[in-house]
Amino acid sequence: MSDIIQLLPDHIANQIAAGEVIQRPASAIKELVENSVDAQASEIEIIIKDAGRTLMQVVDNGKGMSETDARLSFERHATSKLRTAEDLFNIQTLGFRGEALASIAAISHLELKSATADSLSGTHIILEGSKIIDQSPCSCQKGTSIAIKNLFFNVPARRSFLKSENVEFSHIVEEFYRIAIIHPDIAFSLYHNDKIIYKLPKSSLKSRIVGLLGKSYNEKMVTIEQETDFLQITGFVGKPDIAKKTRGGQYLFVNNRFFRHPYIHNAITRAYQELIPDGYYPSYFILLEVDPRTIDVNVHPTKTEIKFQDERLIYAVIHSTTKKALAENSLTPSLDFETEQFFDLNFPKDKVVQQPTIKIDPNYNPFSAPLGSKSTHNHVPDQRQINNLENWGKLYTPSEVPSSENIAVPAAEVVQTQIQDNDYSSSFIQLYNTYIVTKIKSGLILIHQNAAHERILYERFMKRMNEHGSGCQQLLFPITLELNPADAEILIEIKPELESIGFGISDFGKNAFLIEGTPSDIETSNIKEDIEKWIDSYKSNMMTARVDRKTNVASSMSKNLAVKTGKFLSQEEMEALVNELFACAAPLESPSGKKTIKILSKEDLSQFFN
Ligand code: ADP
Ligand code: MG
Repeated sequence: MSDIIQLLPDHIANQIAAGEVIQRPASAIKELVENSVDAQASEIEIIIKDAGRTLMQVVDNGKGMSETDARLSFERHATSKLRTAEDLFNIQTLGFRGEALASIAAISHLELKSATADSLSGTHIILEGSKIIDQSPCSCQKGTSIAIKNLFFNVPARRSFLKSENVEFSHIVEEFYRIAIIHPDIAFSLYHNDKIIYKLPKSSLKSRIVGLLGKSYNEKMVTIEQETDFLQITGFVGKPDIAKKTRGGQYLFVNNRFFRHPYIHNAITRAYQELIPDGYYPSYFILLEVDPRTIDVNVHPTKTEIKFQDERLIYAVIHSTTKKALAENSLTPSLDFETEQFFDLNFPKDKVVQQPTIKIDPNYNPFSAPLGSKSTHNHVPDQRQINNLENWGKLYTPSEVPSSENIAVPAAEVVQTQIQDNDYSSSFIQLYNTYIVTKIKSGLILIHQNAAHERILYERFMKRMNEHGSGCQQLLFPITLELNPADAEILIEIKPELESIGFGISDFGKNAFLIEGTPSDIETSNIKEDIEKWIDSYKSNMMTARVDRKTNVASSMSKNLAVKTGKFLSQEEMEALVNELFACAAPLESPSGKKTIKILSKEDLSQFFN
């Protein structure tokens, strides 16, 4: 057999490497901006069109490249940052692999202009898929400008894999945050489709964070500081009340490089134990300085994973430093967990508890009165009433409750029990301020109050958006809302949906909005914070799920507005919630897929005692 092994041509090797380094437009931005930082730029401008599909340009005033360096920079393993193998253990720059430019050039149309301080003229290079098409002198200022056009033009699979413009742009903004936060001494501007999104002057770390994430961070951050002989910690941690249910706002840096580290993340979040509820993420911006020889940044091509030599020690120091910072600022829990009772049966103390009796009106006609209301008007049932009946009915299908005795129970009778028992104090029991328990003829039904309410609100909001509109209640004192530029873009995008749900919102420009009205049925103490939370979940849904705008708005809002576990509910509230749940089109699951109800049948119960 003849020899069959061949060396891959460079342009193919580069395309393969590109697959690892450049997953999406945001990865290219990361690489370009990091190069500008490594070139000691004091000003970096980022220009994006169509979330990077058509153009990504990074212009810096750094040290620039000579004519030869400019050409060499597109070769694989071409780097000015590593000379000897020793250097690998003492890396001070963001790049060092010499892979990024070669990879980007392999999968795009690229144009570079660069000049150094001492050169007479600059260099202009045009490349198409690794091939230099043209190189000529040009006049340009000291620094480098790299424009990437038509990313993935020769990798259609990657191109079609790209998500919507919003999603890709949020990834770009996230990469931008990671670099801009840790380099407040560099002025940054970010443009998208000719609109300025961020213009950040050189500033302190705190002003940089506020400039990026919004004014609310000004008062909501606590300084952290600690110095040991192997680790220096500085930065800020967020007060417990800005903890969010969605990830985002967690920034860890080591030697000026952003990194991810679940173990250290845990050291920080554990310091918030008892200050924030489970499932919430605190915000933090923590800068670590260690001897570069004690870390390995070489573990991942996109370099966001770092290995420390003594992780347990680092864990302990970070945990206690965070805890100390929170304690020094005497931050008391914003959500009072201590008051959550272990077992709450909600019996009024001064009332004599009576033996339960179930009243059933044998003449009851479910279609003669609207469910869940005490109205006696006769009218045609609406879809929700029909759902309610059917859903209760479904609980008695043979698959749910195998006993033949139970199947016979007519749905109407059960519903009847629900609505006629509302004066009876134990018809609904709340357990752990989390579950609603009620008796049905075939056994017990347990309802998860948070999941159930999420389902109810979700369907309600979807309905309003589809039917365009419902009553908006004017606020006596309109509320101003100032957002960071990225969030403002999102609010503008979802404004029509919020309006059809019942909000009155005016856009004042410059990322400021006026909330003039809210839906009459939304009870909230802090509409400002709520809207910020919805935007956050909307963003994270955008990244993770391909859902349409309405679905995303409805699920973000319902998730945040749903009654929380831990909240005490009155008999009336529990009754309304249960009836509303069964009026839903899909009552068995929350929009995020959590179970809403569990039935313990008579049989299940008797099994327990066998
Ligand atoms: P790395 O950053 O790992 O060295 P890159 O492929 O990103 O590899 O860049 C290759 C080289 O090109 C860099 O080492 C640097 O010398 C040069 N370079 C890239 N971008 C710039 C820039 N904006 N300004 C000056 N030099 C640059
Ligand atoms: Mg680089």
